[in-house]
Amino acid sequence: MHRRQFLTTVPLAGLAAGAGLPAGADSHGGDAPALPAAQRFRIGDMTVTALSDGYLHIGPEALSGIDADGYDELMRAAFRDPATHPSAVNAFVIESGDETMIVDAGTGSAMGDTLGKLPANLEGAGIDPANVTRLLATHLHPDHVGGAVLDGAALFPNAELVVSETDRQFWSDESNFANAGDQAQSFAKLAQNVLSVYGDRLSPFDGEADIAPGITAMPLPGHTPGHSGFMLASGDAGLLIWADIVHVPPVQFARPEVTIGFDVNPEQAAETRAQILDRVVSDRIMVAGSHMGFPGLANIAQDGEGYRPVDAHWDYEA
Ligand SMILES: [Zn+2]
Repeated sequence: MHRRQFLTTVPLAGLAAGAGLPAGADSHGGDAPALPAAQRFRIGDMTVTALSDGYLHIGPEALSGIDADGYDELMRAAFRDPATHPSAVNAFVIESGDETMIVDAGTGSAMGDTLGKLPANLEGAGIDPANVTRLLATHLHPDHVGGAVLDGAALFPNAELVVSETDRQFWSDESNFANAGDQAQSFAKLAQNVLSVYGDRLSPFDGEADIAPGITAMPLPGHTPGHSGFMLASGDAGLLIWADIVHVPPVQFARPEVTIGFDVNPEQAAETRAQILDRVVSDRIMVAGSHMGFPGLANIAQDGEGYRPVDAHWDYEA
């Protein structure tokens, strides 16, 4: 079967498991040890370390509002291979004051072997999961909290799980999934398991809550009901960790109306994306994305009807 046909017939569940990726696609080649995929930068007095959990391919069949030809065209315009373009899965460690916080926890073993690299990259960056004081979850999807539990135990044994109360309620309420497909049910099970493993260390927040000095939650609803970003501010510097505002950057920056099958409410997700893109452009806010090319950091510029990410520079002093 032609590769293109194969990819367009893979169901979302198969996609999430990394199906369709070339075998050994995560190996770096040669015998040298893999370098840690970690990049450190400063936001005022805070130190932020972007860490990779790996990648997955998200093809046009997972998207709404664009066909395969439109997808291929945007990929080629961005110098990407439409058949293999890797959408990143990133997490971000924030060191601020006495605290070590991490935004999202990667996939763990939930989504196949091109993913689940966060623990190795934490180690490579010299960050001990036992020293993490808080896990700030942008939402309770498996690529964001699947890695929070490893072999039935908390990966971050001393961390509070900070999560939107709206998302906690949504994923905890079985009646939301009574008529849902297998995928949504498995997502709900995973979320419920994470919530129960961190049960006595849950710290839910509502809306635009202050999370820590200089860190504020920003509701970005649609992708999930409680999907939230985290705004960092220190001195004159700022960064919005905006989670799943884009999943396929070459497509959704150019065409922000394109939604993904994982959106709980696609219409609201597209509306939220339009609003936040407008805001980060007009306020010149640097963003960090869960699925933007590693390390996931960029400023955003208007580009015709759409937008264009402008890579942030390497921080030589961090
Ligand atoms: Zn995601």
